[in-house]
Amino acid sequence: MEKVFVYQQKEYDPAGIREVAREIIDGSGVSPKGKSVFVKPSFVYPSHSPATVGVVTQPPFVRGVVQALLDLGARKVMVGEDSVLGPSRAAFYAMGIYPYIHDIATPIYFDEERHKMVDVPNPVIQGSFVVPAIWPEADLFVSLPKIKVNQFAKVTLSVKNNLGFQRQGPRVHNHNDGTLQEKIADLYRVRPPDLVLADSIVAGEGQGPMLARPYELGVMVGGANGVAVDAVACRLMGFDPFEIDHLCYLEDAGIGPLSDRDIEVVGEKVSDFAHDFDRPSTQLVGIHPNLRVFQGSERCCTNGCRGMVRCALDAWLENNAPLREMNIIVGKGVGDLPKKLPRARTLVVGDCAVEHASRGHFIRGCPPRPMRTAMTLASFQTPLIVTPSRYRDLASTHQPDSGISKAEHVFNQWMIPNPMLYRDIGKGYVAGYGWKAAKFFRPVF
Ligand code: SF4
Repeated sequence: MEKVFVYQQKEYDPAGIREVAREIIDGSGVSPKGKSVFVKPSFVYPSHSPATVGVVTQPPFVRGVVQALLDLGARKVMVGEDSVLGPSRAAFYAMGIYPYIHDIATPIYFDEERHKMVDVPNPVIQGSFVVPAIWPEADLFVSLPKIKVNQFAKVTLSVKNNLGFQRQGPRVHNHNDGTLQEKIADLYRVRPPDLVLADSIVAGEGQGPMLARPYELGVMVGGANGVAVDAVACRLMGFDPFEIDHLCYLEDAGIGPLSDRDIEVVGEKVSDFAHDFDRPSTQLVGIHPNLRVFQGSERCCTNGCRGMVRCALDAWLENNAPLREMNIIVGKGVGDLPKKLPRARTLVVGDCAVEHASRGHFIRGCPPRPMRTAMTLASFQTPLIVTPSRYRDLASTHQPDSGISKAEHVFNQWMIPNPMLYRDIGKGYVAGYGWKAAKFFRPVF
């Protein structure tokens, strides 16, 4: 019988989180005393905008947990993460996490770390992975996932949090061939966490992972068995854990239980906090009157091109922003296309659609990188010149209590109606690449 702890915690208050985390760590029977502890939050689309509270593990949460580990005698705590959108350092800057950890933990940037090949015994599909060496080598591994829905894997919990250990290339490439769930299960087994403390104070529903809407669950969930913790988290989100393939693979391999009968929930009753989370969609056809979609009948990966395009379009759809007319050709087996398709308004996505590359702007890749897809879509949707009347239109939707200035609001709306993409990630990019450039030129000056 595995124990999973569900304790009420309504605020991102590091002192309260520290207390609850200590209780969960004690109850789990995990001892950090004298150990080097490696902590992995989830900064997948890094930002500290209020709109992304349901997307990424919140910095005060990381601080509370690190303090609890130090209270219980941890010798050293490292906080490590990457980003799918740029240098790892960019993720830390964009998250605004330094003030929360600078005095208590060492940041670890995966793309600057030594990597090594590790084997997985009896894999479902992939028997080895290249991962940051620090992950398997740390004395204790603590996973801090953000609980949210996911367009590609249904949910992102502690098992999926390990996907962040893959380099950006293979991580994105994983999404192309319908074996994502199997790879998630195999990667988890490289090193299952010794302890999970999930950030479900505010969780994410709807078009996750990138545009997950905040939902206040008001609890912290944790325990020593990640699969069991994920099973309870699924029930809190209104999912049956047996519908999540990567969890089923791990249960079959005896890594952890999913059934209620094998899990003892300590603390709150799950049914008192459970909520049916809005599930994400990867539909493209018929989602907007101004979009004409030619979708392949032979191949059009939900986890790949289709999901990536929907993810990029969601920035407009979720913000009710006006979408200009455009055509999208995606996948293999699109069939005959209309003779007249304005090339300047047509986007051709992914290697499967290469035969139609000349019909519009072609984005290569299998699947193409998410940021490239998002930026290309933005270039189709955004007139480069903002006239005074356009400025007035955009400024008219500014909310004085939104926490951002009118000029910043106009900039966000002009580029792409999604503050997290440009504001925080943009700042993170400048800082992350700026640091790399400084390092490169240091020997010269
Ligand atoms: S190009 Fe796109 S649709 Fe084709 S296999 Fe790759 S991800 Fe799937």
